[in-house]
Amino acid sequence: MAVPAARVPWPALVLPVYAVALSLASKPTRGIGLLLAAVALGGGLPAPAAAVRASAPPRQPIVEGVRWPDVSLPVMVDLSELPEEWQAPARRALTTWNGAGARFWYLEADPASAGANTVRLEVLDQIMTCGGQFQPAACTYPFVYQLAPQQISNAVVQLNRERLRNDRPRRPLDIVYVPALLTHELGHALGLGEASQPTAAMFPSALWTDLGEDDVREIRAMYGAADGPRTEQPPAPRQPADGSAAPLQLALAWEPVPAAFGYYVQVETAAVYESRGGFVDVGFGEYVVDTTTERPDYAIPRPLAESTEYYWRVKARTAGGNSPWSAPARFVATAAASELSPLN
Ligand SMILES: [Zn+2]
Repeated sequence: MAVPAARVPWPALVLPVYAVALSLASKPTRGIGLLLAAVALGGGLPAPAAAVRASAPPRQPIVEGVRWPDVSLPVMVDLSELPEEWQAPARRALTTWNGAGARFWYLEADPASAGANTVRLEVLDQIMTCGGQFQPAACTYPFVYQLAPQQISNAVVQLNRERLRNDRPRRPLDIVYVPALLTHELGHALGLGEASQPTAAMFPSALWTDLGEDDVREIRAMYGAADGPRTEQPPAPRQPADGSAAPLQLALAWEPVPAAFGYYVQVETAAVYESRGGFVDVGFGEYVVDTTTERPDYAIPRPLAESTEYYWRVKARTAGGNSPWSAPARFVATAAASELSPLN
């Protein structure tokens, strides 16, 4: 049920888990935090302090110090490895977090096009340790970018098949309520830590699926409160059309999204696209365009390379949260197409 605060360098997708565990052993912050919480709950405080606490619950932060960058929202979640009976509770857990009134939201990914920046739920026969806990029911690993170590690039939620099987709990303590566990772990996957308030879904070993006050406050503090409806559809690219030839002096354009105050736009060469297995949300300079714009079009400031293949995509930014990315569209820049540029 714990989450180790992973500090794993990008590219981290292929790093073995034991390496993660080793790097965590020297980071005792979590243990100290939990210890302090235990002391506070144990009644060791003088009466006046306890009275104050009762009227104004402590606002203990439950963040892990890492978060998804705004460009990665909504965060894609791959549920395809889950057994059938856990898929519905997993979807409900996504809906629960999506209902917190934050700009953060989860979106179930099509595994074929999930890309690198996803939360993947995987089922293992056993999880040996997690953040110092022996054989936990689940363990969530948030991976971060090497060049931006506060920013989550992807996350893996490991679920222990044996511990989660309801038909054979070895003792009452071993009973795990899967819907609550999924909600809790997906809270870790978005950057929350363990809560000290027993009303929170992020309370260790919480047995409820609803969010508490602390969960809601913290996710809004991390990602901003939503101020409007969510835009579920990506912007529709207008030009260049997928698979077409495009001029070297190119202006990208897409259908405006009425609620948008801006857009994220990315362009990369096909060479980069193929070497990285598609777009990664944070580009670190290897993209031709990686920017925001207020208008539903963007004139690329430099001429593109002749006879070179590119991919591009766009997402809308709204007060209710970002839209998903548009599907990557391909074009080939050519001088010949320059004379036919539809914007001129
Ligand atoms: Zn936990």
